[in-house]
Amino acid sequence: MSVPRCRILSIGDELLLGRIADTNAAWIARWAWDLGLRVEGSEQVGDGQMAIVAALRRAAEGAELVVVTGGLGPTEDDRTRHALADALVRPLRASPVAERQIRARWARLRPGIPLADANLRQALVPAGATVLVNPAGTAPGIRARLDGAVVLCLPGVPQEMRTMLTGLAGRLPALLPGLRPPTVGELWLAGAGESEVQALIPGLLREADPMVGITVQDEGHLVLRAVGTPAQVRRTLAAARRPLAGLLLPAPGIAASVVAGLARRRARIACAESCTGGRIVAALTAVPGCSAVLGSSWVCYDQAAKTVLGVDPSVIRRHGVVSEAVAVAMAEAARRAAGAAYGLATTGIAGPGGGTRTCPVGTVHVACAGPTGSIVRRLALNGDRAAVLRRATHAALLLVWSALRGPVPVTAP
Ligand code: ATP
Ligand code: MG
Repeated sequence: MSVPRCRILSIGDELLLGRIADTNAAWIARWAWDLGLRVEGSEQVGDGQMAIVAALRRAAEGAELVVVTGGLGPTEDDRTRHALADALVRPLRASPVAERQIRARWARLRPGIPLADANLRQALVPAGATVLVNPAGTAPGIRARLDGAVVLCLPGVPQEMRTMLTGLAGRLPALLPGLRPPTVGELWLAGAGESEVQALIPGLLREADPMVGITVQDEGHLVLRAVGTPAQVRRTLAAARRPLAGLLLPAPGIAASVVAGLARRRARIACAESCTGGRIVAALTAVPGCSAVLGSSWVCYDQAAKTVLGVDPSVIRRHGVVSEAVAVAMAEAARRAAGAAYGLATTGIAGPGGGTRTCPVGTVHVACAGPTGSIVRRLALNGDRAAVLRRATHAALLLVWSALRGPVPVTAP
């Protein structure tokens, strides 16, 4: 039996105007893949009723499941339910089930205030369609069959859409025959670029069955993903593991791996951040369980702040504030002040101004002080200010990760 196909429609002028990013489509695509659907396409459509009708018809022709988000609100520019009724060539009817849900939620959230007529608009569904409970908001969803495709219309509010689709996952096998969740296996990697990884596993990425791919994540690590049968995925990951051994992370992300690595050693870390301005600590604190490894940390943005933490002013005078020596002094000062096993520091020039011939924009020094000494790296980073700061944060975390994997070599700055 062939794999059921999915198409995604995101409704809203604000998407076409570039005012919001279509994060719903990305979330839905992953939800669909994880359930065993093949996502064939995703489209953004404005709020015009005719445009939505046409998109619904197109999508239903090319897929067994169509997931639509947005345009279910109470205002007149929310036209998804009208467009679905048009596409189905059926009238809209007030659903008593939907009306009950809307009234119950309204009474709970705004006791004593009469329900606005506009909200009852949200109880309209095409004749013969099924109302989908929305446990997280007011607008109920709608399920209908259009040209043999199952159409799910959900509110645009990401939290509501996610809650509803998560709840609907268990119902899908009954609606879509042939649905079989694939096995997805991942290796998390850091310390090399995509092309270097590809060179280490010649031929593997060319395979179509299982599907193997590498993705760069925003958090700075790479994911090697294999999608196929359990045996295929096991074989592929086993073949990749040995050549990639030096790059493997134990957790999905560098920050998560640093937290795991420190926790395993029962060690704590303290950060002294200059140019990264707290981004390293933000990345660490995004990891659950971080409190086991992180106590105090500092943003030491100007020279005085670095001195207050314990950096010798003469080191700054001699080497300049953006230097390997100052990065090491900051890391050691943070380690000392917090009584932590590891200290991590950054100092650099994020731009766009402030660069010099010997120290151009993008120069960042990251240092990690550990129980047996310090390591320091001078980075020459590309990109605008945001990119430099993001890359500096990744590089700093990667430095600790590499320090945690082996003995810390001593470097005299
Ligand atoms: P509601 O019924 O709650 O009014 P709706 O179905 O009418 O929702 P919209 O009015 O289009 O949906 O959007 C509601 C909110 O959801 C907005 O804040 C919008 O930014 C967000 N949103 C809508 N579509 C998307 C999308 N595709 N990706 C990310 N966010 C979205
Ligand atoms: Mg709306």
